[in-house]
Amino acid sequence: MLSMSLTRFVARMARVRPARMQGHRPVASITFDDFPKSAWETGGALLARHKVRGTYYTAGNFCGRSVNGTVFYDESDLRALAAAGHEIACHGYGHAQTPHLSNAALAADRQRNAEFLAPFLGGAKLESYAYPHGASSVRTKKFFAPLFTNLRGVHHGINEGRIDLAQLNAMPIEKRSFSRDMLAAAIARALHNNGWISFYTHDVSDCPSEYGATPAMLAEVLDRLAEARIDILPMREAVAVALG
Ligand SMILES: [Zn+2]
Repeated sequence: MLSMSLTRFVARMARVRPARMQGHRPVASITFDDFPKSAWETGGALLARHKVRGTYYTAGNFCGRSVNGTVFYDESDLRALAAAGHEIACHGYGHAQTPHLSNAALAADRQRNAEFLAPFLGGAKLESYAYPHGASSVRTKKFFAPLFTNLRGVHHGINEGRIDLAQLNAMPIEKRSFSRDMLAAAIARALHNNGWISFYTHDVSDCPSEYGATPAMLAEVLDRLAEARIDILPMREAVAVALG
C-alpha cells in the first residue's frame, strides 16, 4: 500500500478530468470548508459588504455541532446563505479522507450528504465538491469526477492553462500561512494568465484557528481582488468563466 503522501502526490499528478482554461478574464472564488458558523456569520457579512457570493463546502455531520471548540453551522445558517445566493457545495457527510473509504462507502457517504443538503438547494444540483482534508487518490478522483462539475483540493496554486477539474488548486486564507506577498503574487499571476484563484479558509474570527482567517485577512483578499477588478464568483459559476 502506498504511503498517504505518495498516494496524494500520484493523485495530483494524474489528471482525471483534464481541461484547458480558455477564459478571457481572470476570476476568483471565496470558499469555506466544513464549515464553522463564523464562516457564515462573519465571513458572509464581509462578502455581503463586497456584494459577492461564496461557496460553502458543507459536511452534513458537522451540522449543529461543536467539535474541539469549533462551533459549526446549523440548518438556519444553510437556509440563510442559500437565500442570499451563496453556493452550497459538497464536502462529504462524515468528512473522512476519501482514500480511506471503499467505493461503496464513498457512494453511501455522498448519498447521505446529498439527502441532508437537498432541502436547502431549492431544486438545484450539487455541482461543486471539495475533498475532505484535501485527500484524494486516483481511484477516488475517478469516483467523484463524473458527479460534479468541479472538484477542489488544497494543493496551493492558482488554476491556469491545463487544469484538472477533478482536483483544482487552491490558495489558503489561513492564519498559519497567510502573507501579503503570496496574495499579491497570486493576483498578478491570475491577471497575467487569465487564471482562476480558488481561495479557501475555515473559521473567520479575531482569534482564528490555524486553518482560519481573521476578518482583516479576508477583507484584504476582497479589497485586493476588487482593486484588480477580478470578479468573485461561486465555484459553480467560476468554472464556466475559466473554461471560456
Ligand atoms: Zn474540511
